[in-house]
Amino acid sequence: MKQLNRITPQASAHWVGDGFPVRNLISIPRDAEHASPFLMLDFAGPQHFAPASVPRGVGEHPHRGFETVTIVYQGEVAHRDTTGNSGVIGPGDVQWMTAAAGVLHDEFHSPAFSREGGTLEMAQLWVNLPARDKLGEPAYQAIGAAQIPEVVLPENAGSLRVIAGEYAGAQGPARTHSPMNVWDLRLNAGGHAAFTLPEGWTTLLVVLRGEVTVGGKAIQTAQTGHFSRGGTGLAVTVGQDSQVLLLSGAPLNEPIAHYGPFVMNTKQELIAAIEDFNSGRFGRLMDESAPMS
Ligand code: MN
Repeated sequence: MKQLNRITPQASAHWVGDGFPVRNLISIPRDAEHASPFLMLDFAGPQHFAPASVPRGVGEHPHRGFETVTIVYQGEVAHRDTTGNSGVIGPGDVQWMTAAAGVLHDEFHSPAFSREGGTLEMAQLWVNLPARDKLGEPAYQAIGAAQIPEVVLPENAGSLRVIAGEYAGAQGPARTHSPMNVWDLRLNAGGHAAFTLPEGWTTLLVVLRGEVTVGGKAIQTAQTGHFSRGGTGLAVTVGQDSQVLLLSGAPLNEPIAHYGPFVMNTKQELIAAIEDFNSGRFGRLMDESAPMS
């Protein structure tokens, strides 16, 4: 069995831009060494927004050295970046953006969601890249809800969407740079579920909403359980209806140097990233594709 080593304190909320009231459930300074290849996870909402004429969100900003994975549960997020990619991420959709050598992008409530208002609920996971891929070509995977296989768990325990990796023969659509599983689970109160995960892999159980119990210990809303890399079994009892991300991956075992939106291996590489950004080498977003239009 994998041992539950640690449960993070219930995270408090802060705003990212004026659009995303997030709780930070995986934190780079606190967790990234143990969480590799996962770096960071913010969970936004559920939060109701009144109709607005100007979309809320986060303006142009850079990323280098890792991937951002945006999973939308409710509402819509619009995105555009310097590779020319843009789109709207709606309920059930996932955007897997490989920043690699660098992108500038912005992230706003979609024009339709802004106009009509409603409830926004989404998660953004940062996945580290191996050193060999940190300065590779940026890439973008727009993964629609219909592309993500959903497996019904035994005994009415709930269901599991395979975003990346594999579960019970179902393959996730996301292409990754190191071996990992990103599973998105909806669990029913009173249910029991058991999982087999690879020996030696990082294993994190992120409770976005609800409560699950592992080995007699409750992991509640906005908490993350960190498990041992040794062992393979993980058995969960569901206390309340829950939305959970079960993340597992082969640790990269490479040094992490982090500054704001840059995650590299050394301080020198961070300085280079800042210089490249300041001198405009990340490019510019095109005004005519502004999300307000
Ligand atoms: Mn971003």
